[in-house]
Amino acid sequence: MLIAVRARRVIPLAGEGPSRDPRDLFSPPRVLDDHVVVIRGIFLDGTGQAVVAGGTCAAPDSADAPYDPVGAARVLSGLRGGIIEAVEPMDAFRRRTGVPLADLGEVTLMPGVVNCHAHLELSHLAGRTVLGGGFVPWVKSLLPLAGAETPPDVRAAALAEAARQLVACHTAHVGDITAVAPAAVRRAMQAASIGCSHFAEVFGYRFTTRDGEPAAPADTAALWPRAMAELASDLAVDDFPPSGPTISPGPAPAPGAPFPIHPDAALAGHALYSTHPVALAAARRWCERNHRVFSMHLAEHPDEVEFLTTGRGALADLLAVRVLPPGFAAPGMRPVPYAAELGLLDEGTLAVHCVQLDAADIRLLAESGAHVCLCPRSNAAINVGTAPARALAEAGAPLCLGTDSLASNHDLDLWNEARALRDLPAGHDLPPAALLRLLTVDGAAALGRGDIGAIVPGRRARLALLPQDFSQALGITP
Ligand SMILES: [Zn+2]
Repeated sequence: MLIAVRARRVIPLAGEGPSRDPRDLFSPPRVLDDHVVVIRGIFLDGTGQAVVAGGTCAAPDSADAPYDPVGAARVLSGLRGGIIEAVEPMDAFRRRTGVPLADLGEVTLMPGVVNCHAHLELSHLAGRTVLGGGFVPWVKSLLPLAGAETPPDVRAAALAEAARQLVACHTAHVGDITAVAPAAVRRAMQAASIGCSHFAEVFGYRFTTRDGEPAAPADTAALWPRAMAELASDLAVDDFPPSGPTISPGPAPAPGAPFPIHPDAALAGHALYSTHPVALAAARRWCERNHRVFSMHLAEHPDEVEFLTTGRGALADLLAVRVLPPGFAAPGMRPVPYAAELGLLDEGTLAVHCVQLDAADIRLLAESGAHVCLCPRSNAAINVGTAPARALAEAGAPLCLGTDSLASNHDLDLWNEARALRDLPAGHDLPPAALLRLLTVDGAAALGRGDIGAIVPGRRARLALLPQDFSQALGITP
């Protein structure tokens, strides 16, 4: 069935992203006045009954519909499972017959936001870690908590709250780092109609086969966290709409993998300091062969720079206890050139944080084409510095945003990441027009998702309302 939603303004961001040219990135977005988005799908309420929409805001022809973001958000969440059929002016829509219309009123409709970096399986640790003292005290407080057994009901409740936060800010899709509970994360995201890319994290210097035998770090079968096997069994219940766009679900036993790998799963490296360089390169190659995005934390904190360049410091002391192999020698290089030397940086890579950069690092990153995921509030909460967002954008590095986990952030509202970058001192900040693209088309490109990020026929109907502060800043509030 078809359903239509009308908004006074629509920002489709059609044909955009990823933005490499700052002139395009900073330019005002195209705004369509009084348009209708027609959506195809089967829309059910909580009782399994077909519904027109989550709650109609106003009669179709009332041009003076009151601003009702709560009602409008309710309508949008009822449509999340659908596919966009058409985007057309209200006048053209009037010639259609029999398609129910929900008028959202005085709102600006845009694509749902794409959160490119989270650790949803850490959601139950909200408020329990040491913040403000730098990376090493934070990770020391995290490790015993993350390593402890978590009762399934505790995890499920925390994931439900995380999903509620993601829905509240109109999140279309999450790039989630995982090692222990990908299936629980996927269930929570499916219940909220949020898409999820699962990045299975490779960590450490020693690897074993599924039988517990020692394995070489280049053996990709040994790199997959055991918990990822659970995701394969979820394949049958995935929420691909029967008439979906270009996505073919189906099990995809990929070369070098020990079990069928979910189409939304990929390998990710933890970081240059914590993970064998051969394992990082092998994970990167697996992603390239299988057309998946490779993600890793990069240049997040000063301890990382000190450790990689000198082999010393607080991080060295921490890693020496249980991570580093005997005889480990630091590469003696800064993070970005070291990552480049290992072959880890190109258009298929999502480099997360990128806080500790000098001018040469910025140039090298931009030239590599790697997508850079900024997590400004996590960086501020742990106190590791501020990423040079403006300089990266001006150098042509494709950027996107992530909240990181609730163990290092106050909430999962991606608009708050955008506000953090908007509110940096002049000359270091990013303008609202650029942030709008980071939140949507550029985030979708960073995760390799062609099914979200713009309001275009064939894409998923995961839509968002432009918050009023951004609407005012962009000059599109009447
Ligand atoms: Zn992270």
